Amino acid sequence: MADKEPFWETKSLNEMSKLEWESLCDGCGKCCLHKLEDIDTGEISVSNVSCAYLDEKTCKCKDYINRQDNVPDCIELDLKKLKKLEWLPPTCAYRLIDEGKKLYDWHYLISGSSKSIHEHGMSVRDYAVNENKISDIEEYILEWFNKNGSLF
Ligand code: SF4
Ligand code: SF4
Repeated sequence: MADKEPFWETKSLNEMSKLEWESLCDGCGKCCLHKLEDIDTGEISVSNVSCAYLDEKTCKCKDYINRQDNVPDCIELDLKKLKKLEWLPPTCAYRLIDEGKKLYDWHYLISGSSKSIHEHGMSVRDYAVNENKISDIEEYILEWFNKNGSLF
């Protein structure tokens, strides 16, 4: 008998259970980087400065359960916010599924290993700088695409 089809290929985001939704996150840590908004143009820039609560090695929140008490503007992603957050990286699993695309091979649900994302350089590991270690965030603005046109 054929294996059951994976939920992320058969369900839309709004059909997923809470557990399925949570498990879809690839753990890249990119949404825990600070963004800056130009007050004149409204343009959003992304930095590689991370929230103080991000563990730069594991790319996980150090206190996920209490994240919104710790950081009131921490984003609790849902379908409504997903549609509005233009700065979400093109690699974000939620964005990919919402756009009808496939997950990348390095996503742990595909590879079977949570190390794959780091091995492929697709997380913020060794890239993010904790906000407690910097003085001027404007020196840390970045593009989601690197100089070679590849996703970092
Ligand atoms: S950018 Fe998307 S996939 Fe990556 S950590 Fe944030 S919510 Fe998860
Ligand atoms: S509180 Fe945790 S989940 Fe929220 S932005 Fe900071 S590190 Fe990320």
